Amino acid sequence: MLEIASNLRTLCFPPRCVNCQSEIVPSKTPKFQCRPAQLASSYKHQRIASLLDDHWCDPCLRNLVNRDRITCWTCGAELNQQSPLGRKCAFCFKKSFRFTRAISLGNYQGPLQKLVIRMKNLHDEPLTIQLGNLLAHRLFTSEFIDSIDLITAVPTHWWRRLKRGFQAAEMLAETVARESNRQFSPDILKCQRSTKKQGTLASTSREKNVQNAFRVSRWGSLQGVNILLIDDVMTSGATVNEISRILLRAGVEKVYVGVIARGGRVS
Ligand SMILES: [Zn+2]
Ligand SMILES: [Zn+2]
Repeated sequence: MLEIASNLRTLCFPPRCVNCQSEIVPSKTPKFQCRPAQLASSYKHQRIASLLDDHWCDPCLRNLVNRDRITCWTCGAELNQQSPLGRKCAFCFKKSFRFTRAISLGNYQGPLQKLVIRMKNLHDEPLTIQLGNLLAHRLFTSEFIDSIDLITAVPTHWWRRLKRGFQAAEMLAETVARESNRQFSPDILKCQRSTKKQGTLASTSREKNVQNAFRVSRWGSLQGVNILLIDDVMTSGATVNEISRILLRAGVEKVYVGVIARGGRVS
């Protein structure tokens, strides 16, 4: 009976792609192939593949996930070609971060940029959750996901929280934690003063803007743990770097970063 009702609902309201709104044609064989292929047999990969299949049309999914990319090992920036600097972009060659490495779905441009703007400006929860699922899938292919003890998000000042009422980074972190079966700890970090929007500042002012803007709220319980810190976009990396500094000072072993998009000038 439930199956009939479900089929009827699908017939009357066919599922639509969360990005382009085109109708998703049901298929008996999964259109989304987990990559690398050897990971496809695990339950969590089958689950995420099924979730992605249900919410993205084939072209959008291929555009966002199923493509060969060369990325900077440190900051997750998508490189145009094999860098002469090895697996580092020019930015990371000059700068050293306190986090171990960052992973993104791609650079902040083209369709990914439009999706992030839509997610933030329209407070689009279904899209945010599906971008979180894409990020979870991307993280499954990383070498560090199994070492993560807990997942948290870049915190927002209470005043901005109140004004917006929507926390994209927190929703992304919660989704990634759920799909990767890791502990979601939204309260370990606090933003203790209001900061200017990083995107409005010159790159030289960004580190100063976030200096001492955050604090760890659970001292003593973070000794030796590995944390995955989630945000929507990483541009200069100043915010996640400052948070990594205070987490490491609180005893955290390693900080990894997961973002939807890597912004700024990358090469
Ligand atoms: Zn689509
Ligand atoms: Zn880099």
